[in-house]
Amino acid sequence: MLQKLIDKIEKYNSSDSITVIKNAYEFAYKAHNGQKRQSGDDYITHPYEVANILADLNLDNVTIAAGILHDVVEDTIYTYDDIKDEFGEEIAMLVDGVTKLGKLEYTTKEEQQAENLRKMFIAMAKDIRVILIKLADRLHNMRTLKYMPEKNQREKASETMEIYAPIAHRLGISTIKWEMEDLALRYLEPKEYYELVDKVAKKRQEREEYINSVIEQLRERIHDVGIEAHIEGRPKSFYSIYRKMFKQNKSFDQIFDLTAVRIIVETVKDCYGALGIVHTLWKPIPGRFKDYIAMPKPNMYQSLHTTVIGPDGQPFEVQIRTWEMHRTSEFGIAAHWKYKEGKDSLTDFDEKFTWLRQMLEWQNEIKDTREFMETLKIDLLVDEVYVFTPKGDVIDLPVDSTPIDFAYKIHSHIGNKCVGAKINGRIVTLDYKLQNGDIVEIITSANANGPSRDWLKIAKSNHTKNKIRQWFKKEKKEENVLKGRELLEREVKRHGYASSILLKPEWLETVAKKFSLHSVEDLYSSVGYGGLSANQVILRMKEEYKKVFKVEDKDIVAELEKLQKPEIKKKISSTGVKVKGIDNVMIRFARCCNPVPGDEVFGYITKGRGVSIHRKNCPNANEFLQEPERLIEVEWSEATKSSYNADVEIRAYDRKGLLVEITTIIDESKININSFSSRTTKDRMAIISFVLEIHDVEQLNKLIRKFKKIEGIVDVFRSKQ
Ligand code: MN
Repeated sequence: MLQKLIDKIEKYNSSDSITVIKNAYEFAYKAHNGQKRQSGDDYITHPYEVANILADLNLDNVTIAAGILHDVVEDTIYTYDDIKDEFGEEIAMLVDGVTKLGKLEYTTKEEQQAENLRKMFIAMAKDIRVILIKLADRLHNMRTLKYMPEKNQREKASETMEIYAPIAHRLGISTIKWEMEDLALRYLEPKEYYELVDKVAKKRQEREEYINSVIEQLRERIHDVGIEAHIEGRPKSFYSIYRKMFKQNKSFDQIFDLTAVRIIVETVKDCYGALGIVHTLWKPIPGRFKDYIAMPKPNMYQSLHTTVIGPDGQPFEVQIRTWEMHRTSEFGIAAHWKYKEGKDSLTDFDEKFTWLRQMLEWQNEIKDTREFMETLKIDLLVDEVYVFTPKGDVIDLPVDSTPIDFAYKIHSHIGNKCVGAKINGRIVTLDYKLQNGDIVEIITSANANGPSRDWLKIAKSNHTKNKIRQWFKKEKKEENVLKGRELLEREVKRHGYASSILLKPEWLETVAKKFSLHSVEDLYSSVGYGGLSANQVILRMKEEYKKVFKVEDKDIVAELEKLQKPEIKKKISSTGVKVKGIDNVMIRFARCCNPVPGDEVFGYITKGRGVSIHRKNCPNANEFLQEPERLIEVEWSEATKSSYNADVEIRAYDRKGLLVEITTIIDESKININSFSSRTTKDRMAIISFVLEIHDVEQLNKLIRKFKKIEGIVDVFRSKQ
């Protein structure tokens, strides 16, 4: 059995000693002796096949030896040290890496899944060969999946479809990607899969004859012009056909290009020569020509693609590439692996696999696993759009990206200073969706004061969103703290609790620690910039509550309501307003103008909801005057203990420390802030709105006068809404 593997290796690698392979095989054979696979085969067949898959990728002997040994530490009595003593540190390190990945339990739980992916990326950073062995391991397990119980089959298949195949794709290893996808499809959608296999088989002969005649014609013409070429018909994978039918909502009979024609030549010049011949023989379908030679995919894939109308009117796809490109397209990163001792494994790929480097950066930056998962889902699994910088560099972004994504992809500094964008020389809005081939120019301004929160909605990639959030996190700390506090309090109310009961400072501290944050301030701030949702925090706060009061979940609401009641009662009891001639009437303060004691007010008799109190200068006053019969005189009673909501808007030139000064004044006046929001206009004016709890108009006017003295404040007024 071993000789077959050795023959395979010696075909592409005759310079390295084969001894290590022989020793590894002997060691693994002995270690796994007596163990069986689910299929009933000896266990050694598995590592042996894994080694074969690695040899098919033309990998080096160290990697293949590690592949043979990959399950020894996990499943036998031998340890890391045994491997190290016998085979040295490099092989032991690779086996150890695979063993650690093997411990990842597949789970549908999002957070766990994200954690697994994160570990996978860390493994890639350490040595990409760990991932190559893992991919080979998974591929062989998929090939032998039929021996597993049905539940495991589905789990393994979806994990393969969701994680391993996309990683193989991103590493450019198309041979493994295709086989994984087809195998996974077989277990995920068995009915559709076998139908498809059946239909393809029925059409095969007719199809092959057709393609063969096409190839014959091509071969003659290409030979005539003196280009050395290998031409073959390449059946498309079942999954790619399935996906096409699904995505374009087509029936099987509507899918024509079940087979692609592939032309492999010696030089790039010959690629374009061959393309010319294809296009003179058959008519190309407009819009289907893609030049991945000039514009390689991020996984280094290069080829010319074109779809032409064949002799009988049926379209077929032609792929043209050099042998070098062919190798890259089949083996991806494995084809470019250079084994230089003592070299950081990633540096070689820095240029070519920028996405990988980026993922690794992100997994350092993004502490929240859920956020990391989202980033991966969007940036690893989706289709891309390719656009150009004004200098002609290609930038790849997720489909539906906007100029903002482009700006942040170039550099966060560009993003933060972005004020506009030009596409192909024309100014566009920042929510423009980038198209393939667009030339994107970002207009920046040194005066730009950072991103706008609205950009979080416009940006497509999570990379961008993270960068924007980071900016807010850093630059707008004080604002975030306030904002986060408000969001939390609002969420508490929405859940029907009183904030004084649930948001206990000591619990907030505990919860902050649970989110690995340093302080309660940081916790507020995270909620403020959107790193944590208010709901996430509330859930943890409830846990604390449960711990202290030892109550079940369902009892919490009742419990909290009980505690809350006195507070509500107090608010209802004294409104502070007397309605002329009527006692005991229901009073509401109109939201449109939020009157406070001291304001000139009038009452409006509503239909069934008592009397609403408006300011005489209420923006809606004119409407009410249309119905004079409903108006009623009201006056403030002398002693009012209650508090009233007042809206105040402040316009100011944005500067650091502004918010702190404003909130300090509010605090010193012993006034509560009920809600708060702020935004920056295009001309960099800060508009800050508060809803303040005040006692009377005198107190409010005093406060407004104090605000007006703050440096940079342009205007302060009671807002209408
Ligand atoms: Mn294994």
